Amino acid sequence: MAYLIDNLRNSGVLICPACGTGPLDAAETGIRCPHCGVLWPARNGVVDFYNRYLECGDGDQGEADARYHAFAAKLIRVLDLPDTPAMADRVGEIISRSLSLKSDNISVSAEINDLEDRFFGNDAAIIQPEPDAAANTSPQIVFERHYFPANAQPGTQLSANIRLRNAGAFPLSSRTAHGIVLAGRWLAAGQPARAAGPSARFPIDLVPGRSISLPVTVEIPDRPGPHVLRIGLAMDGGDEFVGDTLDIPVEARGGPRGILRRLGAAFAPPRPSVAVELCPPNPSYGEDHAFGVDTLKTCLAELGKARYRLLEVGTGTHPQTAWLENCEVVALDISAPMLELGSLYFGDRFAERLAFICADAFAPPFKPGAFDVVVMFSALHHFPEPEAVLQKLSALLAPGGVLAVMCEPVSNTLESACIIRDLLKGINEQVFSLDEYRLIFARAGLTPMRLRLAGASLVALLSLAGPVHSAR
Ligand SMILES: [Zn+2]
Repeated sequence: MAYLIDNLRNSGVLICPACGTGPLDAAETGIRCPHCGVLWPARNGVVDFYNRYLECGDGDQGEADARYHAFAAKLIRVLDLPDTPAMADRVGEIISRSLSLKSDNISVSAEINDLEDRFFGNDAAIIQPEPDAAANTSPQIVFERHYFPANAQPGTQLSANIRLRNAGAFPLSSRTAHGIVLAGRWLAAGQPARAAGPSARFPIDLVPGRSISLPVTVEIPDRPGPHVLRIGLAMDGGDEFVGDTLDIPVEARGGPRGILRRLGAAFAPPRPSVAVELCPPNPSYGEDHAFGVDTLKTCLAELGKARYRLLEVGTGTHPQTAWLENCEVVALDISAPMLELGSLYFGDRFAERLAFICADAFAPPFKPGAFDVVVMFSALHHFPEPEAVLQKLSALLAPGGVLAVMCEPVSNTLESACIIRDLLKGINEQVFSLDEYRLIFARAGLTPMRLRLAGASLVALLSLAGPVHSAR
């Protein structure tokens, strides 16, 4: 087992996500929990603390081998691995496993299966299949959550997400003749209902059982006072709601930053909020991540410790923090195959300071308070409940620790090629406005110490300081 993983296990940092206890025992093929008996398997230096896969056929191995051979050769070149038949077999096995693993969660499966695009991108034209002939028959949805503030400034416009699940038996599509859209109406006693803003289209057809977070743009009424925003499905161009609706009470009130204040019963009075530093956009994805790492370096210097233990969530193959000095880094991801390739790439050179661990961020296999810093790069928006995952991860922070949310997209539309491509694959793509991110941080009980917006990419350094507010 890799040096750092053994170190974390011996020092009791690693705990069993099934029963929540530690310390754990080394076993020949992984790590065993002496309390509940579960064996967490290890492959290529990565312990799989998720290991919840559905049985799936692996097809014709001969055909698979031929198909994956070229891909494996490409990966070996990109990762600068030894070009030997043994390594080709090893990488081929990782690829083949990556493409065949299925979980009970569509977006988790999609993340694990996405190996090739993660490495080599995908510029192919997006071809959405024709809508199902029975699409939009008897539409039924369940509203899962929303990010509308309870208070808004009269006459302003805001964008907030509505997360809903297709609870019917047929797909929901905005692409049919009278497609289904998500519409909002303002209701007021004695007045006719009126459109709250443009209706939101479904960027992809939503299959039964699947959820999506749709950003909805809403004009806040000019008149101060209480209003009710009713959200529901409608036929495009039609006036009537189809199926269940969601009523959101909103108080329109004056004063600066009125829209940022959520004074609902579940919340204590707002704390003073830190101003956003506006920075020019970074020219590339890579430079944007480097900007995030630089922000983190400054933050570590301010913490003033000699050594740091750092957890990076959603790393895939390349933890952004692997090269930070004076850090022990635990790279966590839901995709064991991605981590295994990372483990092969970083190899023995990093064994003392870098560990790759596969786990669900909602069941992290670490004792509370184990980390000085928990960081994620472009990962938070993939979680269906970002506030809940932040709350879960913040329990891993040592006193005075920092939760760093890096390179999160700030936007109000899902209508972009790469987002639609990921949605079609099953990945949970979401976009949030800056106000929604503030709301998410507050719901997680986290206080922003620093907010930097480079173009449409948000960097947030958060702490547990101050009273903990919970929306749950
Ligand atoms: Zn256990």
